[in-house]
Amino acid sequence: MLARYAQYGGIEAGGTKFVCAIGDASLSLLERIEFPTTTPAETIGRAIEFFRSRAGNDGLTALGIGSFGPVDPRPGSPTWGYITTTPKEGWQHTDFAGSLRRALDVPVGFDTDTNAAALGEGALGAAKGLHTFAYLTIGTGIGGGALVGGVRIHGLLHPEMGHMRLPRAEGDKFEGVCPFHGDCFEGMASGPALRARAGGPPDRLPADHQIWTNMVHYLSAALVNIACVLSPQRIILGGGVMHQRHLFPRIRRRVQHLLADYLQSPEIVNHPETFIVPPGLGDDAGVIGALALARHAAGGDIDQE
Ligand code: ZN
Repeated sequence: MLARYAQYGGIEAGGTKFVCAIGDASLSLLERIEFPTTTPAETIGRAIEFFRSRAGNDGLTALGIGSFGPVDPRPGSPTWGYITTTPKEGWQHTDFAGSLRRALDVPVGFDTDTNAAALGEGALGAAKGLHTFAYLTIGTGIGGGALVGGVRIHGLLHPEMGHMRLPRAEGDKFEGVCPFHGDCFEGMASGPALRARAGGPPDRLPADHQIWTNMVHYLSAALVNIACVLSPQRIILGGGVMHQRHLFPRIRRRVQHLLADYLQSPEIVNHPETFIVPPGLGDDAGVIGALALARHAAGGDIDQE
């Protein structure tokens, strides 16, 4: 049962910044704050302070966390709610969700930042009304989350779409920046990879530069793989790199070309602008998804909505 006055807390925890918000039962944002990700003690402490000071006398009904990872999202696991093997300095094996649950004494929903963003887009954004879709963020890292049949994907751990292996673009000599794999998807096409390729901020590159052609190559190859594996009704592309809107039409054409009319769906063949889309919630997808995780933790069956 959801009380009418339910008040949810949400954290979108990124490697660069934290976004904390308080929202109501319809997931409208009532309060929102951002601060840089520093040490775990300082950053988690600021989040706790925000919720304690802003949630009022009744406090939060529940808290949701969408976190950078890898994380342990398995209920019942001794390390549930931990950030695990992250390359982010100082954050390895951090008891993230448990620290907040103890400090705020509320139910906590915990998942990857991208599963949370997918949940947010499904509740209020570009995937509203769909049951099977994927959300990718192309930014400081590359991550992907998905709902299949209305349920977030969890298995042994969680999807790591950013680390799939992709064929190299012809003539591309870039080594890749992933500390684990070098030239995986994230290694070749994340924001840091793009900056390294461009030798600085990529904004000044002309739209027809070869670097963009290579980016389109990797993004399209990844989307084809996701389309073939999950059969999503839609794929949402968010994150800082996708603020380069000129990439969208090129990616759609390239995905069509690579699929070569093999997947016979009107969304792909005739209306790719409905198949590969930007987030409906813009850069708020993650934090609204975190509020949806909180609602779910409190007993609202958000995955089925
Ligand atoms: Zn990798």
